[in-house]
Amino acid sequence: MEIYFDNAATTRPFPEVMEEMTKVALNDYGNPSSKHMKGVEAENHIRRAKEIIASAVKCKEKEIVFTSGATESNNMAIFGGVRAKKRAGKHIITSAMEHPSVREPFLRLEQEGYDVTFLPVDKRGIVDLQELRNSLREDTVLVSVMHVNNETGIIEPVKEIGEIIKEYNQDIYFHVDAVQAFGKVEVIPKNIKADLLSVSAHKFHGPKGTGFLYIRDGVRILPLLEGGGQQNKLRSGTENVPGIAGMGKAVEMIAREYAEKKEELKALREYFISGLSGIEGVTVNGGGPDVQSPHIVSATVDGIRSEVLLHALEEKGIFVSSGSACSSNKPGLSFVLTAMGLSGEAADSTIRFSFSYSSTKEEADICTDALKELVPTLRMFVRK
Ligand code: PMP
Repeated sequence: MEIYFDNAATTRPFPEVMEEMTKVALNDYGNPSSKHMKGVEAENHIRRAKEIIASAVKCKEKEIVFTSGATESNNMAIFGGVRAKKRAGKHIITSAMEHPSVREPFLRLEQEGYDVTFLPVDKRGIVDLQELRNSLREDTVLVSVMHVNNETGIIEPVKEIGEIIKEYNQDIYFHVDAVQAFGKVEVIPKNIKADLLSVSAHKFHGPKGTGFLYIRDGVRILPLLEGGGQQNKLRSGTENVPGIAGMGKAVEMIAREYAEKKEELKALREYFISGLSGIEGVTVNGGGPDVQSPHIVSATVDGIRSEVLLHALEEKGIFVSSGSACSSNKPGLSFVLTAMGLSGEAADSTIRFSFSYSSTKEEADICTDALKELVPTLRMFVRK
């Protein structure tokens, strides 16, 4: 038995994605920049993926740039955005809850002399909009706030954030890390007034190492990579054609899953949470269902270190995450959970369960039954 409840870390690729990638890699292996037929075939796969993505996020095809994933997309948006706006100012804003691939670029820019505002969040992990209003300045050039948090699944009010920024000054770039949102909640950059928006394919059953950055038509950013000038000089390097084609396939398929199964996934989350409520000393972090992405449950289990529980569940074939997989190899506590006001001990006892559209109630039952058995036993071993 294998129950994979770590879909926020990564997902299993759809078999159709792998088939598409294998076909493209083996047959249409040309360089998309080549002028002959093999190049044109490869270029057609890129064009097709762009069409699919543009139709899914309701944007123009030329607004999509392919990258190696969201770490690159986020770095490109932030460094590329501020570099293009060097003359406009040196103040940038982000939240206290961002993924390291946003947080670290901001910290780097701070070292380089930028003035950085980290917006506080409330107990649910939602950005303080009044603080945002108070923080905007004449020299603010870029604001970056994520759509859905990867540790808790909380949905940030990105639409309101976009409105506040643009009402203050149309020229401030608004970047959104939509990695955990895409395929689970509606992601349409225009509706939230985003200028830049990052997505990564491996979070929705596409290949690892592939993603894209939406860059609104008219928005200028400087490239991170200089070289052959591919992708309108924005991202040099031969395109990862099989990866891009695989991502296109995954976008096509996840759009269908989202349309058909999003209510089911919401119901599964609620079902799982009601199962957890039968276990003493378990608190679910975040907000109500209206501000939560349906695929993540963050739960603090009093008195048990998350890593201990993670491995005990693993023994039973259940795979979950402590805090977030992306940062759990780093020493220190989750800054996301502590920003929400959790104590160090509570943050260290927090487990993340994350579902996909193929997760089932039966799996949820097996997982809650395992917790009902493990939690009291493990607590007996904890020294007070
Ligand atoms: N942002 C968020 C919110 C994420 O969850 C992740 C993946 N853990 C990333 C960015 C980085 O994405 P990638 O793995 O494609 O670099």
